[in-house]
Amino acid sequence: MRPAILNPLFADITVLSGVGPKIAALIARAAGPRVVDLILTPPSGLIDRSFRPTIADAPEHRIVTLEVTVDRHHAPPKGKRLPYKIICSDESGFLTLVFFHARQDYLQRALPEGEKRLVSGKIEDYGGARQMAHPDYIADPEKPGDMPLFEPVYPLTAGLTAAVMRKAVTQAVARTPALAEWQEPTWLKARKWQGWKESLVAAHSPEAQEDLSSMTPARQRIAYDELLANQLALALIRKARVKSRGRVIKGDGRLIAKTRAALPFDLTNAQKDALKDIFEDMRASERMVRLLQGDVGSGKTIVAFLSMLAAVESGAQAALMAPTEILARQHLESFADLADAAGVRMEILTGRDKGATRGEKLSRLKAGDIDILVGTHALFQDDVEFRDLALVVIDEQHRFGVRQRVALAHKGPKPDLLVMTATPIPRTLSLTAYGDMEHSRITEKPPGRKPVETRAIPMSRLDDVIAAVKRVTAQGDQAYWVCPLVEESDVIDLTAAEERFESLKEVLGERVGLVHGRMSGPDKDAVMERFYRGELSVLIATTVIEVGVNAPNATIMIIEHAERFGLAQLHQLRGRVGRGDKKSSCILLYKAPLGETAEARLKVLRDTEDGFVIAEEDLRLRGAGDVLGAAQSGFPQFRLADLAVHGELLAAARDDAKLIMERDPELKTSRGEALRALLYLFSRDDAVKLLSAG
Ligand code: ADP
Ligand code: MG
Repeated sequence: MRPAILNPLFADITVLSGVGPKIAALIARAAGPRVVDLILTPPSGLIDRSFRPTIADAPEHRIVTLEVTVDRHHAPPKGKRLPYKIICSDESGFLTLVFFHARQDYLQRALPEGEKRLVSGKIEDYGGARQMAHPDYIADPEKPGDMPLFEPVYPLTAGLTAAVMRKAVTQAVARTPALAEWQEPTWLKARKWQGWKESLVAAHSPEAQEDLSSMTPARQRIAYDELLANQLALALIRKARVKSRGRVIKGDGRLIAKTRAALPFDLTNAQKDALKDIFEDMRASERMVRLLQGDVGSGKTIVAFLSMLAAVESGAQAALMAPTEILARQHLESFADLADAAGVRMEILTGRDKGATRGEKLSRLKAGDIDILVGTHALFQDDVEFRDLALVVIDEQHRFGVRQRVALAHKGPKPDLLVMTATPIPRTLSLTAYGDMEHSRITEKPPGRKPVETRAIPMSRLDDVIAAVKRVTAQGDQAYWVCPLVEESDVIDLTAAEERFESLKEVLGERVGLVHGRMSGPDKDAVMERFYRGELSVLIATTVIEVGVNAPNATIMIIEHAERFGLAQLHQLRGRVGRGDKKSSCILLYKAPLGETAEARLKVLRDTEDGFVIAEEDLRLRGAGDVLGAAQSGFPQFRLADLAVHGELLAAARDDAKLIMERDPELKTSRGEALRALLYLFSRDDAVKLLSAG
């Protein structure tokens, strides 16, 4: 249970004054629905009222604070639409304060004639006079405390004003209870960091532009708290898994030897290393949970297949889950000959299987007449029972998040788990997302791969590119054409892709196909399948081919508005060509002129085909939030930690979490208690549940 002391933070934001249901909905959109979401939303800007010029010197369009004498209130206006005016002055000149829909009694109290007042806001010159409409603040110079010199500005959303949001956040911060310190005092001292509450208050009280940086001591402290919560949660998940012992899976090597002999190539050293890791894990009595990272085309699939054979050799079954139907079919096809050679019985199960066929497959599976089952998420429906499932391989799974891993950690018999991803993830990111898993990386490509020639070409040369596609497809090669991702909106994506589809059909005829994210699964699969079978020469797509099909005849990849894609995404797309032995190319069509970052990014892509290098560069150039993007929502979202700059803090948090797990694995000491609160604070409730009560 969440410690009661945190309850005020987990209240709905409507408990804050000035936040009714309507405002709450807006704030929820900008920051989140609970008080804690507000305290963890750092200011994005700052209003500085410390600039104090004279009336004559005050520039337009900038916030100024003026000390003026109130000379005279004009007679109240006759018409409702006319403003109420007050003439003020200082030694340099006159200023007219202007109020629409004003309440005279209020203005007379706030700005009595003959008195001095501070007014803060923006000046404009209007008909030869200096005026300020609706000052943000009016204060007595004797009581300057009534006007804040600095005000933080928070991310907003349409309909939400800065003042309302600020007032809400200020109250939220004030409601933050003092909490027992969860950080090591020596560490705090070494970093010169303050306590949690002090740091929080400081982070919300910027007084200069520098104070908005994620590198201030206060921001670093909270970012570190967040990273520690993340790493500790992962360490707890990992420990829970170790406790839930797996089984020893040890084959006799006979199927693997047969298969390797039947392979038309030798395994690369990287593949051998990965297999060695995997076999060791499978043989151990602990449960394997391993991430296999490797670029598209690096040869993960055969590694997965051989791993599954080890399970089959030991008399058990294995399953491979692909993200789409067509990929599942491709896996089945690519293994078919090898499986035959080894005498292994493989079957496929997807959403398409219905009724009698499905029933028949399920009973064979339960009887143990299927050794390896390939499929989509349909594999994990409740009524799918294996006789003895020992290994699950999950392919290309970005969305296999911590939550699902916790769920699996809780579930019945515990098969070993191998997760494969073709998205090279920067080290820091993979520590936060997959810190509970062992890692293997395939960093070497199979020999003889021809590099993909990568060129950046401006949109103005579109006709040349279309001519090139015509030439290449006339020789029997195939092309991918990826259409721009516009503000992640399906609708706009679609128009662009459809227009391109029509215009290419005019030039290339009927051998052009279109797939997009709004098509139904079967429709999409049907088009992809036609491309895969060679019936289509050009496949136009929104990014759905990112996890795409393997078409060895595809030698040209065109990416429109390449400047709008993430580097890792571009790299991923490029990996779709160059799979056969022909020379391939990737054309990055861009809209000139390119910004500096866009140019740097396209250059990285031209210079290297190493996905890991590209991933690190992407992180450096764009920051973590963008690298992860919407497509990879399985990644933890950080509120304050920024992996592009807080990498060093992450490493420290990882060590810290390890140490905590050694010294106080059940979080029972007084620091342990405080750390439980930290986990709740950053919504790592899942992990706390893995602890025994106490
Ligand atoms: P990934 O799954 O990592 O994208 P694949 O396993 O699909 O890559 O491999 C891509 C291609 O490379 C396949 O055609 C596969 O048969 C081939 N391949 C895999 N390993 C090797 C190797 N060691 N030597 C030569 N070719 C290989
Ligand atoms: Mg693959």
